[in-house]
Amino acid sequence: MNQKERIDQLFEKGMLSREDLARLITERNEEDSQYLFEKARIRQQEHFGRDIYLRGLIEFSSYCRNDCFYCGLRRSNTKASRYHLTKEEILACAKQGHELGFRTIVLQSGEDLSYSDDDIADIVYSIKQAMPDTAVTLSIGEKTYEQYLRWYNAGADRYLLRHETADSEHYRLLHPRELSWENRKRCLYDLKKIGYQVGAGMMLEAPYQTVENIVEDLYFLKELQPHMIGTGPFIAHKDTPFRDMPSGGSELTIFMLGILRLMFPKVLLPATTALGTIDPHGREKGILAGANVIMPNLSPVSVRGKYLLYDGKISTGEEAAESIVRMTERVESIGYRVVQGRGDAPDVQIHQIT
Ligand code: SAM
Repeated sequence: MNQKERIDQLFEKGMLSREDLARLITERNEEDSQYLFEKARIRQQEHFGRDIYLRGLIEFSSYCRNDCFYCGLRRSNTKASRYHLTKEEILACAKQGHELGFRTIVLQSGEDLSYSDDDIADIVYSIKQAMPDTAVTLSIGEKTYEQYLRWYNAGADRYLLRHETADSEHYRLLHPRELSWENRKRCLYDLKKIGYQVGAGMMLEAPYQTVENIVEDLYFLKELQPHMIGTGPFIAHKDTPFRDMPSGGSELTIFMLGILRLMFPKVLLPATTALGTIDPHGREKGILAGANVIMPNLSPVSVRGKYLLYDGKISTGEEAAESIVRMTERVESIGYRVVQGRGDAPDVQIHQIT
């Protein structure tokens, strides 16, 4: 099979053998990429038209009990400035987002044990009470089935937990001993079982990553069938053990967005902040390769510069209102439109709180 035939097969069947996927990735060139992106846009527009969904991201705490080797929030990073927002501050950000037109709020943080399970449930419940037309997404790490269930019952609709890498050996090279691929995977299946719309995804060009690892990620995603796949390049942070590891670029992530759109035609596919950080036009290129979600930051400007997963993160000084205007203009400049609404994955049953 040549490259064009591989892309055609991916377009028609949504799947390729491991060997062909690996070759599609390693042998890619500019011409293949353009062909892949054309096909990806066909699938994207078939299911989503030219609509781009927005998620308002509230990074509510930079404290973390974990020590992931790549992340600037890791507990051993004594140079990080830490903050956590109160329930009132989080609600104020969510309300501001609602006024700006957001109908999905993503609450993300490090694994901060100072919020009890009741606190999280109360924050979720209060947002849903105040803004019943808004979907609430949690992204607060690895928890037990009971915790996830509790927050689902409080009204949380979605959960983002990137799987990072689906190879247990590679997982071990990126994380300390106490974290395991098996537990990450258990969490994702628990979330699905409970009924959350689930987001998974891998970090591309992470240290020690091989093409076989990426193929394993794709096969894992096929098995999991998440509603969203968030992927972006690894970017080194100066105060982590991976400070001297090379950061990824935008090219591979954008190529992988094209592949993901063909393998998962209806999936929600964000053009991530990491992609926009490594390439000033990364998010537009991501949309033109099949992405259909962007996640502007709604955190208060006073804390933005403290949620630093990696060096050089963009939009740390911009007000939420400013960033939405700018993102809308950028999306329109490439022929797409930002839509207001929850932006659920197609065909999902919306979570009703009983
Ligand atoms: N604590 C939660 C968790 O573990 O899912 C959510 C916050 S965590 C900081 C969000 C994501 O940031 C991770 O899933 C990881 O993929 C990404 N991330 C962390 N450090 C990164 C880096 N140096 N470069 C790129 N992405 C990074």
